[in-house]
Amino acid sequence: MSGAPAIGGIGLIVIILMVVFFGVDVSPFLGGGTMNQSGGGEVTQADEQAAEFVSVTLADTEEIWAQIFREQVGTEYQPPVLVLFKGATQSACGGAGAAMGPFYCPLDKKIYLDTDFFTTLSRKMGAGGDFAAAYVVAHEVAHNVQDELGILSQATAIRQQVGNADSNAISVRIELQADCYSGIWARHAQARFGTLEPGDVEEAMNAAKQIGDDTLQRSAGQRPMPHTFTHGTSEQRQRWFAIGYQNDSIAACDTFGTDQL
Ligand SMILES: [Zn+2]
Repeated sequence: MSGAPAIGGIGLIVIILMVVFFGVDVSPFLGGGTMNQSGGGEVTQADEQAAEFVSVTLADTEEIWAQIFREQVGTEYQPPVLVLFKGATQSACGGAGAAMGPFYCPLDKKIYLDTDFFTTLSRKMGAGGDFAAAYVVAHEVAHNVQDELGILSQATAIRQQVGNADSNAISVRIELQADCYSGIWARHAQARFGTLEPGDVEEAMNAAKQIGDDTLQRSAGQRPMPHTFTHGTSEQRQRWFAIGYQNDSIAACDTFGTDQL
């Protein structure tokens, strides 16, 4: 992935089986669409549920970030397109599907998410729950927010001029900021839609914990190696989500302006 502009979603490895595109209207594809389908496979009820869930969650993020941009930035928010797929597909940042997790591609301003991911998240990662899944969508949307704010392009430009360890350290700051923005989203989701139930924030916090680099490396039987971290530790990811949730402020999420990650 070195040099590729794709921004890793949550640092997970998932096996991807076939392709369904999801845009404005998901029904043609759920009815047996063929566009960019590879590897075959049936569209299951679980896939349809994932599509419905992602669609609702994405719409929520659009309303919320439009409001935050009006109030805190003073510009119009341009939401990303979300591509839900099974198997493999192409993005402007390269192929999606070779065992990648969800990611945001700044070149086409699209989020790529595979339908099996939610199952993986809940079964293998111990991070089940609707809100945990919504957190993952919100995290990818947060990368689009960083893109809209001009932060992503600046950080990516610097990453391309430094060595691996420094590049990884910048990646950690990008990812923790996206977690912080996800915390802002969670607070607004609660206020606007009443979508949060007791335990929901804990679900998101648990998801953040399960996908920390140290936890992922330990689960893979490795000793955690901080210089290889690209997303931050479990503790850091939970902490920055909480900072966003509590402060409701883009300015409070300045992971680049602090020594205290
Ligand atoms: Zn990310």
